[in-house]
Amino acid sequence: MGGELPAFDVVCVGGAVIGSAVAYFLSENPDFDGTVLVIEPDPSYESAQTSRAQNSIREQFSNPVNIEISRFGMDFIDNFDHNTEVEGEAPLINFRGTGYLFLADDPGHLATLGRDAELQQANGAGSRMLTVDEVAAGFPFLDTTTLVGARLGSMREGSFDGWALLQGFRRRAVHNGVRYLTDRVVDLVVDGGRVHSVVLASGRTVACGSVVNAAGTRAAQIAAMVGLELPVEPRARTSFVFDCATPIEHNVPLTVTPEGVHFRREQHHYVTGAVPVDDRAVDPDDLGARHHEFEELIWPILATYVPAFDRVRVVTSWGGQYAYNVLDHNLVIGPPPSVPNFLFANGFSGHGLQQSAAVGRAVSELIVHGGYRTIDMSELGYQRILDNEPFLESVVI
Ligand SMILES: Cc1cc2nc3c(=O)[nH]c(=O)nc-3n(C[C@H](O)[C@H](O)[C@H](O)COP(=O)(O)OP(=O)(O)OC[C@H]3O[C@@H](n4cnc5c(N)ncnc54)[C@H](O)[C@@H]3O)c2cc1C
Repeated sequence: MGGELPAFDVVCVGGAVIGSAVAYFLSENPDFDGTVLVIEPDPSYESAQTSRAQNSIREQFSNPVNIEISRFGMDFIDNFDHNTEVEGEAPLINFRGTGYLFLADDPGHLATLGRDAELQQANGAGSRMLTVDEVAAGFPFLDTTTLVGARLGSMREGSFDGWALLQGFRRRAVHNGVRYLTDRVVDLVVDGGRVHSVVLASGRTVACGSVVNAAGTRAAQIAAMVGLELPVEPRARTSFVFDCATPIEHNVPLTVTPEGVHFRREQHHYVTGAVPVDDRAVDPDDLGARHHEFEELIWPILATYVPAFDRVRVVTSWGGQYAYNVLDHNLVIGPPPSVPNFLFANGFSGHGLQQSAAVGRAVSELIVHGGYRTIDMSELGYQRILDNEPFLESVVI
């Protein structure tokens, strides 16, 4: 099918949580009276990472800007019904506050947790350090023999329904007049340092004012269409849900072991995952679960710290991918100098759900006002990629 669509002021490439958050905030901005088109090839979102996440939010980061970004995500979730209601109805966000608990088994790691705790507190987060005795008293299901301490976050940290977050943005954006189109972007036409139009797999083209790259693990392919390199690659991450023979009768925070294995309770089950031993780029279509990881990598560590996890049964598992920024594990946002009407919103490295509200708002500010009005995300711009200057985030789960 060939032919032209009408021109749009803003075109989002990808319509999962990030593309929909951008569309939402543009359409809510009273200073914006333009048109927005979201192009998404998979309206079921079956292969989007948004549907394959573990749906948690925290304020324990190592950079002030990431703390601020997630804290806005928390505010957005706190007011979710008001923020997303359409004709009196909003999706059920179902937030459960548990805190995140980072365990340390050596003094060096504990010192790093402590330094970051001070930075987090200075930026409004409720993190605090715990002695081993406090860990044992507060979380009696843990074996603390090898631990030297821990850092615990506030009850504003926890889990929510990621699907509801996506639907909340999307329903309200559509209600506000944003158009979603089922198609795939195959090229961007650039002339004189600007993107003029978007070429679709259907053969149609769309003239545009600005383009937002919200293509998740395929973000580098979209960047290549404007002649730019983006160091964001798909990295496999498998999630497992398991039961244990002796359920834990206690609040279970999202717990991160010193080895980086994380687990949390989900109703009567537990959800877990870890960084694979051989962590490298995979094909973006390779969404299969790595079943061997549970027995070989995760379970031995879980059983070390939680005696009740000695006897467990995997109930289900699924594959997913991080859109992993290999330079510094941080998002890339805003335009590159060479193509000022092309905006990145990529490289979330496993924290894009919680960052979606702040990033959607920030991208809308860049488009509407030409600069940040709320959280200044300049440090997270593309210039650092050009300069090969990492802006490291060390708390990546
Ligand atoms: C196992 C796992 C656990 C996670 N846990 C958390 C968590 O606890 N908390 C958290 O905050 N984050 C978490 N994340 C990360 C989070 O899921 C992602 O950062 C977030 O969903 C990214 O959203 P996105 O819209 O950028 O990408 P996606 O959801 O992947 O969406 C990208 C969209 O772009 C579309 N697209 C691709 N190419 C094109 C094209 N050429 N044209 C048009 N559209 C295109 C795709 O169809 C897709 O729908 C986790 C991720 C995984 C895999």
